[in-house]
Amino acid sequence: MPPRSSMIPSLLLAITVGLLSTAPAAAQAPKAAPANGAPANGALRSGELRLTYLGNAGWEITDGRKVVLVDPFVTQFRRWAPGGADVAPDGLYIPDTALINEHVPRADYILITHGHSDHALDAGVISRRTGAVIIGHQTAANLARAYDVPDTSLITVIGGEDYEFGDFSLRVIPSIHSALDHKQYFNNGRGISGNAPKGLRAPLRRKDFVEGGSLAYLLRMGGHEVLIMGSMNFIEREMEGLRPDVALVGANSQRLEIHDFTGRLMRALGYPALVIPSHADGYGDPKPSAAALADRRFFQQEVAAASPASRFISPKWFEPIVLPARAAATQAASAASGERQALNPPGISPLVPAYSEAIRAGTQVFVSGMTGIKPGTQDIVDGGVAAQTRQTMENIRTSLQAGGATMADVAECTVFLVNMADYAEMNSAYIEFFRVAPPARATLAVSALPRPAARVEIKCSAVVRRP
Ligand SMILES: [Zn+2]
Repeated sequence: MPPRSSMIPSLLLAITVGLLSTAPAAAQAPKAAPANGAPANGALRSGELRLTYLGNAGWEITDGRKVVLVDPFVTQFRRWAPGGADVAPDGLYIPDTALINEHVPRADYILITHGHSDHALDAGVISRRTGAVIIGHQTAANLARAYDVPDTSLITVIGGEDYEFGDFSLRVIPSIHSALDHKQYFNNGRGISGNAPKGLRAPLRRKDFVEGGSLAYLLRMGGHEVLIMGSMNFIEREMEGLRPDVALVGANSQRLEIHDFTGRLMRALGYPALVIPSHADGYGDPKPSAAALADRRFFQQEVAAASPASRFISPKWFEPIVLPARAAATQAASAASGERQALNPPGISPLVPAYSEAIRAGTQVFVSGMTGIKPGTQDIVDGGVAAQTRQTMENIRTSLQAGGATMADVAECTVFLVNMADYAEMNSAYIEFFRVAPPARATLAVSALPRPAARVEIKCSAVVRRP
């Protein structure tokens, strides 16, 4: 989230500040609109994927070659700017071209999960400006046609397609909408389900943006598989057997209307390595309620309980998340050949150049002794041995991922404490990461650790189950 300082009067300014504060990544994003075919981000290496949260269910996903948007709706941020307000159902709903120009420099494809205005409002304008091809139900196409998007820029789908696009492939997954209005979504009298007709003309009213059916997507790009949800519901048998490494999960409190939402989803998806909540930011609300914040934490706990080995990232508006090359792809060859590979994930540098952070050899990943350094620094986190243990485990997780392994692959750990009196506190944080069938372990007290501020160091080894 952008800074919430009351010294910043305008959210637009706040967003700009937030963008600038992520200078290394944001500086790579082109500000002007380059022609399609220009590199989206020359700094991305082969196999890396960059996900940038655009608010609500909106995402920009790129491998540096193609830019795929999901449900872009940056107009929502106007609501929090001076003079901004909700648009009534009968009110004209005009996409904010200034916000779109600022935050959506380029797009090749736009995936629409469903036709509601908080998913489909900006797509027509973006397509007209960038030439992006819109993929979605007939309703998404008809809403885009209202903005004179030509049929050559529309791919209408119904769910079940698995399309090859060269730089990526896309499986279109039949889905269902969140159970709004206490499960009376289809009989609530609000007229938000159903299909948008042909022949609509912009400007549209908010009530023109009807659902038109719901879709999820599996985007395979740059060696990654990203599961994309736009709503707090899913059809379990359609998710069953998918194996995304990243899941963008519709996560606001409407999920609580659904039986065992998070548990069923995590099991069906095979416990994705990375889970990122989507559609849970209150439409860009810069000051979420205590209840909303508590529910966000609750969702994270649901994921931790259902899929303890998954990494969880709370996305921040317009801050890029760069995923390293998925090790499975690059490691498959190495695993087959038994080749030894040194891994030094960004942000976790060795203290001295005498060792690698991790080594992958065949199906095994050996992680060096980790301490609770804050990634990108050599500083140990504050908060005592529990906080240090948690950060240590996060650093181990990052190192394992660089080697294509997950926490669930860890076979053994050795824990070094400078004071055995810290055992219980270390242990309570440690078990958060291994709730099921924890690895073999030894714990020792030592007279000192190389980093004087470190009270705990942990080393581990993993055997990758699916090389
Ligand atoms: Zn909706």
